[in-house]
Amino acid sequence: MKVLQSLLVWAVLLLSANQAFSQKLQYTVDLRNTEQQQAHVNLKLEKLSAKTVSFQMPLWAPGAYSVTGYGRYVKGLRAYDTKGKELLVTQVNDNRWEVKNGKSVARFEYDVLDSHKDTTSLYFAMAHFDTSIVFANATTLFGYVNDRKNVPATVTYLKPEGWQFATALDPVGKLEPNFQHTVFQAKDYDELADAPLMAAPSFQTRSFQYGPANYDIVLLSNKDFEMDSLSYYTKKIVESQVKFFNETPFKHYTFLIYAPTLLKLPSLAQGALEHANSSDYLMMNISWEHFKTFGLRIISHEFFHLWNVKRIHSSLLGPFDYTKQVRTTSLWLSEGVTDYYAHALLARNKIITPENFLRDIEGWYVTSLHAPSGKSLEQLSQEESDFNLENATTFYTKGPLVGLMLDLEIRNRTENKKSLDDVMLALNAEAKKGKHFKDEELMPKIEKIVGLDLSDFYKRYITGTDSIPVEQYLTLMGIEHSANSAEASKTSIKLGLSPEGRIVLEELDAKSFFAKSGLHQGDELDSVDGVQLRVDNIDILSNHHEGDTVQFSIIRSGAHITIPVVIQPDYSPQEEESGPAFILSPKSTALQTLIRKSIIGS
Ligand SMILES: [Zn+2]
Repeated sequence: MKVLQSLLVWAVLLLSANQAFSQKLQYTVDLRNTEQQQAHVNLKLEKLSAKTVSFQMPLWAPGAYSVTGYGRYVKGLRAYDTKGKELLVTQVNDNRWEVKNGKSVARFEYDVLDSHKDTTSLYFAMAHFDTSIVFANATTLFGYVNDRKNVPATVTYLKPEGWQFATALDPVGKLEPNFQHTVFQAKDYDELADAPLMAAPSFQTRSFQYGPANYDIVLLSNKDFEMDSLSYYTKKIVESQVKFFNETPFKHYTFLIYAPTLLKLPSLAQGALEHANSSDYLMMNISWEHFKTFGLRIISHEFFHLWNVKRIHSSLLGPFDYTKQVRTTSLWLSEGVTDYYAHALLARNKIITPENFLRDIEGWYVTSLHAPSGKSLEQLSQEESDFNLENATTFYTKGPLVGLMLDLEIRNRTENKKSLDDVMLALNAEAKKGKHFKDEELMPKIEKIVGLDLSDFYKRYITGTDSIPVEQYLTLMGIEHSANSAEASKTSIKLGLSPEGRIVLEELDAKSFFAKSGLHQGDELDSVDGVQLRVDNIDILSNHHEGDTVQFSIIRSGAHITIPVVIQPDYSPQEEESGPAFILSPKSTALQTLIRKSIIGS
């Protein structure tokens, strides 16, 4: 567990009679000193009338849940009056600063340091400033003044000359072409903090229109990406989900994707974070055939979050309190059910085949068997903000399985007249009116929507720890276990962690240059050219070039061995065929067939 405890002093959060009123915040974020791996922020205030002025950085970021304390990366915070005279600033805790003679504060200035290797969260929730990339979640850059979050802001980004820039905020003034616009506005702090940004010398981009909204795909990589395929499939995902919810709750949407090749990956944890009208990703640039097996599912997951969590959510998840750790029981819905739909809608809309979907179920099932036991989905949900990667993974294995099982339970008992679809649509209709459920109201609401008593299901699989009878549930949609199933194929490089924190080659494609150099599956990577290898410095491999020979010191069966590895430019894993674990049952009843077609199409 790597959690930074908050040192918040609650008393200072109580609003006093002297609270300030600031009508508008004007931010200028200077991104031009990327070689120093930091940004410089200038915050101009208007119309202050408070005795004490506070500046608060967020403790956590929506969607990332974990306690990070973004103030830890804010350095040299200074306050000035209108004449430019520096004022005395007191740092109250990691995330909060105060100026006593507040009336005269005209602006704040501070530096934000690179945080992309922080261990309390994941890459896409932090900030990466370097000579070829700026990638930042906005919670790393912005705070709010005197605890007022409903204040509009303008932001001017100063980017290195010739660079391109992308964020999902509304631009101010005339829109310049080719991602050159740098002045934006936000109606309040929630909107400002929810718009990540990416800047680089050159993006690979595609744009498309669907319904009333514009979509931009902005990708940064050290290698050409298959952009036409990415755009084609992303549009299909957008279409299928906008049709599912029958609404488009935004005017424009931006996919911000950092997709370096394997050896340039800054972190092992690939994934993404959802925002109100954007999502930001760290994914590997790999052959399209391989990328689409995981990349499309991640995009589908983040896009479904637009409704399920950005709109449909527990009252504990918004309006956001950025100063308090979140303890909600509802993430089985927000993450698990989102992941179920992310995959099911791909199959239902023929973006992946039904066989692919059954493979996904098999993957979830096999992984969930090894998941940390003894904790229910609700318990894990409450502990999610403690940031334990292994526990969090359960929401993407057992989570979607329980989502599928709940859908099957409802469909089977109502003869397919009601489903989890009805639940999502009804919850979304409420959320559109601004109503958010209390955690304890969620199951009663679902029961009311579908007209069933689901207390037994809830007690067993959501608040309880009963083992999940996946095969039994799959028969409800005419799917059965195959007698001829083979072991799941090992097709790629997958890195894991040993109990001692060493990086382990969990899976290794025989065709990769690692394998050809003599590395084996199960090898623990100890050091590279004498430098100890850890999760947060895996990118030292990117210092090497094609043809270089790198000495890998590994541990195999307890023995230390050094193996020279010749670096190759590219690596494309191959799919290997193996028998599926789940197949269509030849003896399906009419209801089972109907349920299957309703979930994954015909
Ligand atoms: Zn998610």
